[in-house]
Amino acid sequence: MQTAANPLMPIPGAIDPVPVPRAVTPREDGRVDLLGLARDQIRAVLESAGLEPKQAKLRAKQLFHWLYHRGETDFEKMTDLAKPLRGWMAERFIVGRPQVVEAQVSSDGTRKWLLRSDDGQDYEMVFIPDADRGTLCVSSQVGCTLNCRFCHTGTMRLVRNLTPGEIVGQVMLARDALGEWPKGNMGGSMASTIEDEDDDAPQYTADGRMLTNIVMMGMGEPLYNFDHVRDALKVVMDGDGLALSKRRVTLSTSGVVPMMARAGEEIGVNLAVSLHAVTKDVRDELVPLNRKYGIEELLQACADYPGANNARRITFEYVMIKNKNDSDADAHELVRLLRQFRLPAKVNLIPFNPWPGTDYECSTPERIRRFSDIVFEGGISAPVRTPRGRDIMAACGQLKSASEKKSRAELDRLAAEKQAALG
Ligand code: SAH
Ligand code: SF4
Repeated sequence: MQTAANPLMPIPGAIDPVPVPRAVTPREDGRVDLLGLARDQIRAVLESAGLEPKQAKLRAKQLFHWLYHRGETDFEKMTDLAKPLRGWMAERFIVGRPQVVEAQVSSDGTRKWLLRSDDGQDYEMVFIPDADRGTLCVSSQVGCTLNCRFCHTGTMRLVRNLTPGEIVGQVMLARDALGEWPKGNMGGSMASTIEDEDDDAPQYTADGRMLTNIVMMGMGEPLYNFDHVRDALKVVMDGDGLALSKRRVTLSTSGVVPMMARAGEEIGVNLAVSLHAVTKDVRDELVPLNRKYGIEELLQACADYPGANNARRITFEYVMIKNKNDSDADAHELVRLLRQFRLPAKVNLIPFNPWPGTDYECSTPERIRRFSDIVFEGGISAPVRTPRGRDIMAACGQLKSASEKKSRAELDRLAAEKQAALG
């Protein structure tokens, strides 16, 4: 609880908790869900179900293609498998999807999905279409243990790591909903979870797909769920499957310094760092993890990040909070720090998104503009991120929990009013 004596939110357990590890929920029918499994894991599952090693290897390759390249969920439609084999598989396996509790579309085209795991926990994903790209914002955990004071997710009590299947499942579901599997294969039951695309919808890639980029910026701290996030992103980047290039995948961390080098080496995606402040006091307050890994240590880890260079710069996220981190002096200090560590950097200024119960307010547009100008004048690009999907509360840090309840309560109230007016 927040008290005068203890102005900062408490950090549950140590500051370095590893959230509840979770075994995959067993299915009542005893079948194994293949969603999220890598090629080798599929092969192992096939072998333990009784296939010869050579057979298992070949079938794993075919299944991998059907699952992640074609988006097929029905074994009967996997036409290069012999018919009896299809039946054999359907008895033992399924190709699942996260359960969709709610799908919303904003007036600006942003889409948000509330998803539910097999053990009844909710998490979210958001799709943001832009002029030249379509970005899927993917969650790595249900909730987050890090309690950043300005972040709604940090106030959620329940935390658990998402499994690779639940992480890859978000990308699969987005492809389903956007109708982006190769043509001739859209008859599956999972096709188009929400309404169909317009005919004149923008096409972003050579193969005409809208989902072009992935950011691990949904709920949770991806580096506190390192193994699952790595395994999931490897599946997402595999050239025989979903085939997203690592240049189009970004992992955002609040600064889990000891895991950053491994993220660079073992995943190799673009790095975004939630900096949000340039002094110890303010960052300690906003991002309590700063008490463990301070600003200098964090920036050094960024300087050492494998693969960062001028062509592939590190993004520093900076949420603009009124009278907290938004002064001219803060902007100058930001430039100085990024220069001191010789970072190939760009800064993303994010207008703070208020949520019920927060102590903070968003900086004024003039203040944000001025801050941005100072950083630009310092030679570092500092665009202001336009808030998206505000009408469906799809913005960063607003994912899930109270927003959902509120919107539903709101809907009930409107329905009651309508009834009253009619009656
Ligand atoms: N845990 C990771 C990734 C998820 S948060 C991290 O912190 O980087 C994704 C981004 O949303 C972070 O930059 C976070 O600081 C930002 N964010 C969280 N709450 C916000 C709010 N209320 N308004 C604006 N941005 C917010
Ligand atoms: Fe967790 Fe990121 Fe929110 Fe901080 S900003 S509480 S690390 S999700």
